[in-house]
Amino acid sequence: MLRQMRLCRRPARGGLPLDVGVVVSNVGTAFAVCEAVRDGKPLIERVVTVTGRGIKNPSNFLVKIGTPIADLVEQAGGTAGSISRLIMGGPMMGIALSSFDLPVVKGTSGLLLMTEEQDSKADYLPCIKCASCVRACPMHLLPSTLSVIAEAQTWELAERYGVSDCIECGCCAFVCPSKRPIVQLIKTTKSKLRKIRENRE
Ligand code: SF4
Ligand code: SF4
Repeated sequence: MLRQMRLCRRPARGGLPLDVGVVVSNVGTAFAVCEAVRDGKPLIERVVTVTGRGIKNPSNFLVKIGTPIADLVEQAGGTAGSISRLIMGGPMMGIALSSFDLPVVKGTSGLLLMTEEQDSKADYLPCIKCASCVRACPMHLLPSTLSVIAEAQTWELAERYGVSDCIECGCCAFVCPSKRPIVQLIKTTKSKLRKIRENRE
């Protein structure tokens, strides 16, 4: 008889997957670990996807860490249209970069060039309390409330609403009809809370 397997493991609030014996890694990291252990090769290069409506020929490149982002953009045919944002990572969880002169770092898995046309910032509207984000949240949080707390800059209130449990998956922002930048607002809240804690120490 097959033994019943324990399929669902949840770390305690504020804990890490490692607490329940799990390491979560993306394919790139797993491959880098393999090369380091098997071949003794340090992380000196990585695959970077350059994509978005703001690039002429979206492409994947295997590049050395430290390669200027401007060189990758040039290799991908250059920019198309007026660029409003350069994002390192995906559209929902990525980090906005301030310049094309920055280098590829070990966490640069992708570069997204958004044009002014598609930039949702312009369409950012107030919350209409539809609760779509609440239904979408895998961590059972209240993303709408967290976003309003961030706008009100009442950072410490966010702790009571479990902001540290947010895994920044982006599901809430994806379903939001008001196109609210919920993940960015949550990231800002976390960063402010970190600074508040540091100042207390
Ligand atoms: S980004 Fe955070 S708040 Fe939004 S759905 Fe994911 S876990 Fe929930
Ligand atoms: S999905 Fe957007 S509009 Fe709807 S409750 Fe959430 S934040 Fe508000």
